Amino acid sequence: MTSTPLTTDKSAALFERARAVTPGGVNSPVRAFNAVGGTPRFIAEAQGPWLTDVDGHSYVDLVGSWGPMLLGHAHPEVVAAVQAAAARGTSYGTPTEGEVALAEEIVSRTPVERLRLVSSGTEATMSAIRLARGFTGRDVVVKFAGCYHGHVDSLLAAAGSGLTTFSIPGTPGVPESSTELTLVLPYNDRAAVEQVFAEYGDRIACLITEAAPGNMGVIAPEVVDGQGFNAFLAETCRAHGALFVSDEVMTGFRASAHGQWGLDGEVEGWAPDLMTFGKVMGGGLPAAAFGGRAEVMAHLAPDGPVYQAGTLSGNPIATAAGLTTLRCATEKVYAHLDRVADTLRTEASRALEQAGVPHVVQSTGSMFSVFLTEGPVRNFAEAQGTDVAAYGAFFHAMLERGVHLPPSAFEGWFVSAAHDDRAVQQVLDALPAAAQAAAAGGGQ
Ligand code: PLP
Repeated sequence: MTSTPLTTDKSAALFERARAVTPGGVNSPVRAFNAVGGTPRFIAEAQGPWLTDVDGHSYVDLVGSWGPMLLGHAHPEVVAAVQAAAARGTSYGTPTEGEVALAEEIVSRTPVERLRLVSSGTEATMSAIRLARGFTGRDVVVKFAGCYHGHVDSLLAAAGSGLTTFSIPGTPGVPESSTELTLVLPYNDRAAVEQVFAEYGDRIACLITEAAPGNMGVIAPEVVDGQGFNAFLAETCRAHGALFVSDEVMTGFRASAHGQWGLDGEVEGWAPDLMTFGKVMGGGLPAAAFGGRAEVMAHLAPDGPVYQAGTLSGNPIATAAGLTTLRCATEKVYAHLDRVADTLRTEASRALEQAGVPHVVQSTGSMFSVFLTEGPVRNFAEAQGTDVAAYGAFFHAMLERGVHLPPSAFEGWFVSAAHDDRAVQQVLDALPAAAQAAAAGGGQ
């Protein structure tokens, strides 16, 4: 552990090279540190809970590749499975047993009856929306502000001016015609959901939601009079003949062995019509999936008319990594994740409290976020109250003390089965000074 500024010469040089050939120097925007400032660390290798950058500094990793690394980095069984699969050939374009085994594993842990493998979460949600439209013969899609479902054109939508107006593109490059059939509502707002279903119910193909939002920071689905928000959504969709699409790309096999559905759906007795998965089920390689009721999935080509395909879908190396990860993700692993997350949540809160920084820590399973705002945070508008300047100061103070947090105030912190006492202690040691930095750096 060190408290002097780290030299980042090699990362800085690589960032400069990268910017000369890649927009922003990164292959996914959040990696660029734009939200916190400074130079992203270029990673040379990772083991267990540790990242080592090209300048030779080690960090406790609380990003976990944005979710997939449930077991930690370079888990020996995952590495062995990947090496063995690669030695048998990297892609065949014909079916393999590994794809069947991975689909069986996911079907056994979730309400999904049939599953199609794809290569990214974006592909999974895009395909699920197409299938929902093809199945229902309807066009309108409902989503929630602040829920991210990948960079699908129709889902990169910002709310229009009124509650029940159709959306405007959330980014240049998305034509209005791509978002004009998307309705964006505030998360956890049952009255808004009831209102749009009352108005457009017979045109709505599906409602898609993160099973528990993690992309505006972690926000739990609210329970009202004993009924969870997801149960309410499932019931509302069913009443109007629309499909309920639960996006578990982030929460799947992360929030629990069964994902967020295992935390509330299994208990409350509802199931989504379609689910999307990614991250953990790929074990750090590009694999994702969408699945659901057999009757709905039967509409997919080649059984049905809705077209969907992929050259590398079910890739043998990715399926080997995913299957091994899921098989290693035992109840013992989830109990460990919960313990580590609990310690980090408690101690982060204590340090911020002592430094006088307003904050709220929110979680679902072991996924959690530290919002630097008075809580609670129930939706995107409330998440916007986070003091991003304070988070930037907090982030850099942690980084200098060997802890790599997500470089954005609106993300979850991810722990792994490999976060041992030493790694946890390094985080705890860094927290008091980082909380002081947040107190000094806030509100600018
Ligand atoms: N859905 C959710 C809930 C996500 O968190 C993400 C990515 O973070 C996606 C979809 C898109 O997945 P990918 O980045 O693999 O395209």
